[in-house]
Amino acid sequence: MDCLFCKIIAGEIPSDKVYEDDLIYAFKDIDPQAPVHILIVPKEHIESLDDINESHKDLIFHISLKAKELAAKFGLTKGYRLVNNCKEDGGQSVNHLHYHLLGGRSMAWPPG
Ligand code: 5GP
Ligand code: ZN
Repeated sequence: MDCLFCKIIAGEIPSDKVYEDDLIYAFKDIDPQAPVHILIVPKEHIESLDDINESHKDLIFHISLKAKELAAKFGLTKGYRLVNNCKEDGGQSVNHLHYHLLGGRSMAWPPG
């Protein structure tokens, strides 16, 4: 399958890994939008948040828990943002489900 994040998970494309387990792979974004910008990606190829179902319940919880742990590991004591861009209007550019963990600066709201 021609998927950038599947290739990163498989090690075919290099990445700056910060965490990995059976379910997920986390690595630094190549174009960081904040002092800390980590992508948290399920190892299973799921196109977008719009494609999850009941079978992904444990996975989605696991991502939230690991986001919290990574935020602590990277010193984001003042808070952080966990973002999923879903499909075209959400601004998704890589069609493999991923969450952005952003922190280290104050975030604006609403997003553009
Ligand atoms: P999206 O726009 O789909 O929500 O997020 C995709 C993210 O993947 C972007 O923030 C982009 O900078 C990041 N990205 C794209 N290609 C690569 C790559 O080859 N390596 C890494 N580490 N990040 C990438
Ligand atoms: Zn994929």
